[in-house]
Amino acid sequence: MSERRPAEFFLNPYVAFAAGFASHFITDAIPHWGYGLKSRLKNEKEPLKEDIVLNREFIGDLTRIVLDFLFGIFAAIFIFQGGNEFAGASASLLAGMAGGLLPDFLQFLYFKIRREPFISLQKLHIYVHQAGDIPALPYGMPSQIIIIIAAVIISKVIH
Ligand SMILES: [Zn+2]
Repeated sequence: MSERRPAEFFLNPYVAFAAGFASHFITDAIPHWGYGLKSRLKNEKEPLKEDIVLNREFIGDLTRIVLDFLFGIFAAIFIFQGGNEFAGASASLLAGMAGGLLPDFLQFLYFKIRREPFISLQKLHIYVHQAGDIPALPYGMPSQIIIIIAAVIISKVIH
């Protein structure tokens, strides 16, 4: 019988999905840099009234989001799938990524539908994001690179 390793826990795609979903809110609570969306109507006083306008700017935003999304998927597969000995890891990897991306997609649904459960999720999203955005430099990008490197090292160590 082989010993159980912590990583095996996350080999269940449902667990990976839930962990990805939760990790989005946990990491959103850490002040970070993000490229702003030009089609987003900001409302600092009443964040629940923010919106995304489906205009020309939105097409540019969507293009950036899709490129970001593709880069993230390929980077994750390249980093985590290389030499993976566990069968089923790809399903978990994809489920984890989907769970991690879902909260931002749900924000879009909130903007367009404004009904439960999207309202409560949006409130949670606004709450965890309170620390706010910081500029890319001097702290935004360097701190994000450190978090990425730390996450990769931890994942390789517990593997
Ligand atoms: Zn978010």
